[in-house]
Amino acid sequence: MKFLITAGPTREPIDPVRFLSNRSSGRMGYAIAEAALEAGHEVILISGPVCLAAPSQARVVRVTTSDEMFDAVHAYLEGIDIAVLCAAVADFRPAHFSSRKIKKHEGLARIDLVPTRDILASLGALRQKKFLLAGFAAETENLVENAREKLQKKRCDVVIANDVSAPELGFESNENQLTILLPDSSSILLPRAEKIELARALITILKNLQEKS
Ligand code: C5P
Repeated sequence: MKFLITAGPTREPIDPVRFLSNRSSGRMGYAIAEAALEAGHEVILISGPVCLAAPSQARVVRVTTSDEMFDAVHAYLEGIDIAVLCAAVADFRPAHFSSRKIKKHEGLARIDLVPTRDILASLGALRQKKFLLAGFAAETENLVENAREKLQKKRCDVVIANDVSAPELGFESNENQLTILLPDSSSILLPRAEKIELARALITILKNLQEKS
């Protein structure tokens, strides 16, 4: 099967040296790419800026901003069987970009923000969507309720929820714990394990779902 996977954060520039970003190492997305390749699938990995070596057999598309990630995802959709949007895309970007560095003495009392385009929702809204669409939900409270709401709002087939409030899990950690919400309202808990182990289990679940659909 052919997977499209997004990973890592995006950066939304304020001026040539400053940006807004999200906390994300990219490890979960890269582990999913690795697991998909291991299982013999084809992978397009659309990655924001991370300090990780890309899996050598993946086709890697590097992007920086949410707009670039949006465009790259839509440009590589052809023939995709499963899309897993794992990237921590910034929800807001500065409304204005200063092409010259803002001097410290000038001050920067406020930054006006505008929402970024939601890549996951844009795929959910596609009329003739042939691929299975999986999104992520990083939550600190009401994990399952919030993730279920995301599934409906963004019209995904699957939402993979992780609790980012536990300090030893998620974000920069090698370990995670996932709750996978399925289209039939059931869910599967993948208990705490290394991200690569969770990724392997997730790939099997997504492949089986896509085959059934
Ligand atoms: O709404 P929230 O940011 O919590 O949703 C998380 C999910 O939506 C993740 O799958 C993330 O990759 C995706 N997302 C996106 N584009 C955005 C914001 C989030 O694809 N602009």
